[in-house]
Amino acid sequence: MQRRSLEGRHALITGAGSGIGAAAAAELAGAGAKLSLLGRRLEPLQATAQTTGGEVIQCDVTDADRIASAFDEARSANGPIEILIVNAGIAESAPFHKMKREAWDRILATNLTAAFECAHQAIGDLLKSDSGRLVFVASVASLRGVPYAAHYAASKHGLLGLARSLAAEYAKTNLTVNAVCPGYVDTPMTDQSVARVSEITGRSEGDARSAITNMNLSGRLVDPAAIANIILMLCLPLNRDINGAAVTIDGGTSA
Ligand code: NDP
Repeated sequence: MQRRSLEGRHALITGAGSGIGAAAAAELAGAGAKLSLLGRRLEPLQATAQTTGGEVIQCDVTDADRIASAFDEARSANGPIEILIVNAGIAESAPFHKMKREAWDRILATNLTAAFECAHQAIGDLLKSDSGRLVFVASVASLRGVPYAAHYAASKHGLLGLARSLAAEYAKTNLTVNAVCPGYVDTPMTDQSVARVSEITGRSEGDARSAITNMNLSGRLVDPAAIANIILMLCLPLNRDINGAAVTIDGGTSA
């Protein structure tokens, strides 16, 4: 087994068309992995695949039947799934007293229930691998409360609970299960948060962006490539004893 390479290993990434998912695709491809790239919109997935190669598979992860068929397509293209990166997610904000049940359901379905479904679909393959790897893209919102985003923080706390439980359950196998917990990252999701804050508060986009950027103690947004680099590290066969970790990458915010 090559301990510092993913040569020939099949990695499936959800939400691979943009942000952290696209950056993870680039890192894993650079280490030799064969990729299956999932998301709802084809165009960004194809843009990722242009540089990373791999199989583009359109899939809405809130549709459990579609996850099952999409994972089968991935297996047909690339063989058993040895690495699963559960990254697809959405964020919204609202004061709790105005939070609608539909918004709660939407966030939980995408960020948590879909993670269960993806892990469930892949677990048989992951356990057969000599070096199975499952990485959840959680958040600093997995570790503390977030005003105006109770649904998002609840979904991400749940995701970390899922990651830690699977890590404990499979600790005696060749599978590791870990989470990365980023602060605010320079991705389209953060751009959308800036636009939302600007719209709700009437502040300029620039002011809204610096307010969000300053939520990271570093005063700067995290580079998605840095998150991707940690994901790669967690996926290397060498790191079989990093299991159940919640790696914060947040410019010191959680210090
Ligand atoms: P992006 O919005 O760039 O990425 C999210 C990806 O998820 C998109 O490519 C989107 O593609 C995909 N996606 C969303 N819903 C679905 C769905 N139902 N089915 C399939 N794919 C879906 O933002 P980020 O890269 O920042 O987000 C990636 C992850 O990182 C998320 O889980 C997010 O919560 C987490 N995170 C982000 C932080 C940040 O500051 N940006 C901080 C901490 C965590 P498409 O729309 O085509 O489906």
